[in-house]
Amino acid sequence: MESQYYAQTPQQVLHAVESQEEGLTTQQAQERIEKIGPNALREERKKPVWQVFLEQFKDLLVVILVVAAVISMLSGNAESTIVIFAVLILNAVLGTVQHCKAEKSLESLKAMSAPTARVFRDGERLIIPSDQIVPGDIVELEAGDMVVADGRILHNYSLKVNESSLTGESEGVEKTEAVIEGDKVALGDRKNLVFSGSLVVYGRALVVVTSTGMNTELGKVAALMNQTQRRKTPLQESLDQFSRRLAMIILIICVGVFALSLYHAGGFGTQAILDSLMFAVALAVAAIPEALSSIVTIVQAMGTQKMAKENAIMKELKAVETLGAVSVICSDKTGTLTQNRMTPQTAYVDGSLVDCSALTMEEPIHRRLIQTAILASDEEKGTAVGDPTEVALIMIGDGMGIEERAYREQYPRLCELAFDSDRKLMSTLHVLDGGETVMLTKGALDVLLEHSTQLLTSEGVVELTDQRREQILAVNQELSSKGLRVLAFAYRDMPGAARLDFTDEREYTFIGLISMIDPPRPEAIQAVADAKRGGIRTVMITGDHRVTASAIAKEIGILTPGTEAVEGAVIESMSDEELREFVPRVSVYARVSPEHKIRIVRAWQERGNLVAMTGDGVNDAPALKQADIGVAMGITGTEVAKDAAGMVLTDDNFATIVQAVKNGRNVYANIKKAIQFLLSGNTAGILTVLYASLAGLPVPFAAVHLLFINLLTDSLPAIALGLEPHSDAVMQEKPRP
Ligand code: ATP
Repeated sequence: MESQYYAQTPQQVLHAVESQEEGLTTQQAQERIEKIGPNALREERKKPVWQVFLEQFKDLLVVILVVAAVISMLSGNAESTIVIFAVLILNAVLGTVQHCKAEKSLESLKAMSAPTARVFRDGERLIIPSDQIVPGDIVELEAGDMVVADGRILHNYSLKVNESSLTGESEGVEKTEAVIEGDKVALGDRKNLVFSGSLVVYGRALVVVTSTGMNTELGKVAALMNQTQRRKTPLQESLDQFSRRLAMIILIICVGVFALSLYHAGGFGTQAILDSLMFAVALAVAAIPEALSSIVTIVQAMGTQKMAKENAIMKELKAVETLGAVSVICSDKTGTLTQNRMTPQTAYVDGSLVDCSALTMEEPIHRRLIQTAILASDEEKGTAVGDPTEVALIMIGDGMGIEERAYREQYPRLCELAFDSDRKLMSTLHVLDGGETVMLTKGALDVLLEHSTQLLTSEGVVELTDQRREQILAVNQELSSKGLRVLAFAYRDMPGAARLDFTDEREYTFIGLISMIDPPRPEAIQAVADAKRGGIRTVMITGDHRVTASAIAKEIGILTPGTEAVEGAVIESMSDEELREFVPRVSVYARVSPEHKIRIVRAWQERGNLVAMTGDGVNDAPALKQADIGVAMGITGTEVAKDAAGMVLTDDNFATIVQAVKNGRNVYANIKKAIQFLLSGNTAGILTVLYASLAGLPVPFAAVHLLFINLLTDSLPAIALGLEPHSDAVMQEKPRP
């Protein structure tokens, strides 16, 4: 019966999982979680410590040391053999410790970026960690969310889901709430179900959870999914490669030295051979930088921990290295460079500007404006984080004594077209007071004005002449140049309509504008200046209007004399080569669509830059992947964006990116110091042994001594160098090539 939920009505499914439309109570949820456990996939069993320990002996360099130990034994040097083995074990212990440490730090990073879900408990909408979800919970899904459990759709508002993690199909699947007949329906065709691990790419839905954790479809294939291996970072890779080459060279030189000392000894007696072997062994031991790879990992792991404390969560160790070399940061405006605290300012209706606090419900045009502002926004009450633009709009109603929830109940939403940054519009359908069905739309002025044919005035609805259009555009220009965000409002009569689709978004009657202020973050100004000193170019990429964006960019110091602000559309007609020549001139891209972002990143990369790019929406994921470091917003970002990014900001703050770059540079500088120290120590050892062998002197250090020097005398200071306190000086230099 379990997987037949698609053949049941929502009511039957609710009944089957003992739930109701309002969701569970906290107590019920508590009881269920105690009974069936948290909503999590069982982790792949971790390698036991002893196995990690044994793996440390697989290294070629270690093998050479083992050979050295055997040779020492043959030459009657038993103590020496014991010491070499002791040192080898010590080295393996060090390796095991660093492995576990890195593992632990990655795990805690993973926990910090775990997804959350919006559920209804005790009738309230809450945001909770996804592992707290139980069967029977009513979960709300929205574009950008990750589906965290399997469920049956109760109410569907154009939900579209990417299920590629389960089906391999990368096209979004349109969902429905209707019952699906049949008893052997394939996973991809169960369109009234959603599955854990898929991503919501469009629309909204209410879903009742039917199974969680290992009982989900994803849980069933978890064994296959769990193969996420801890990969080595590029620096580690190149160090490993370096060590392997070094080992080969050492072997060759050792043979040479062996021959040379044999020649000095002047014979082929057993003693002579053994003595010469001791030389070769000593040289091998002296040359091998035993602790190199361990130290690099320790320094990187400590670096990511420091960054996490400073609000930047690295999703993998390798991002730390890349960060230090970033030379261009492409940043969103809203929320990253600004505070994302929108406060309503002025409104423009019926040919005049009025303060938002002076709007009244008595005035019919004002009423239509407020009505559109509230009804064409999503409900914000009871949510921890709403869209600040919409919060500001609802605030206007609040100030006029409109109780949001009651107002929404009075004018229920028949259908909606959710906001997305491509269309830059959001529309909803309602039956208003006179019984007329009306589509209410809010969005970017340039888009909405283009689709409007009429204008609402106190004399009634009039034609939207070119002169009137220009007047509206002039007002928009004036408001935007003060750095205000301007939103436009319009409606369209749709007699008898019950559904909307995108082709309906035209032939509007224009109502008016509302402007709001979103002040820059004070720390962003400092951060942009710091970045500049460190040779890093900051570029603003925003969906907002060009004039608004320029005003803010000037204030923050991004738009400087000699650089320009352009609209994203101008790059559409450019070839890749032209764009490559163009990007250095531009500091602000406005009205950008997600596709533009990818091209901008690529153009900078082709110029030889390492690019960090921020993003929060579903459509930003490809650009985040294209960038050398994708940066997702921890607070306002969608799960999709977090999934695609290499770094997540827990405070959504631009200054945090610059701080992370500084940390990245420091980590790199410290690693470099540690490596230089280790290698110079080794070189000294090699030269001493080589000199003695050339000059025909006795072996200056036994292999054991050299081991001690390399592993203890050298590595402890090297670790200390690697963990040196970070300095601000790194931001005075250009990014390393
Ligand atoms: P950034 O890209 O820097 O985060 P942004 O928030 O302006 O800036 P988008 O979210 O893509 O970028 O918004 C683009 C435009 O769409 C805005 O300038 C505004 O005119 C309009 N807009 C934003 N939010 C909404 C919304 N909730 N409903 C309708 N229109 C909106």
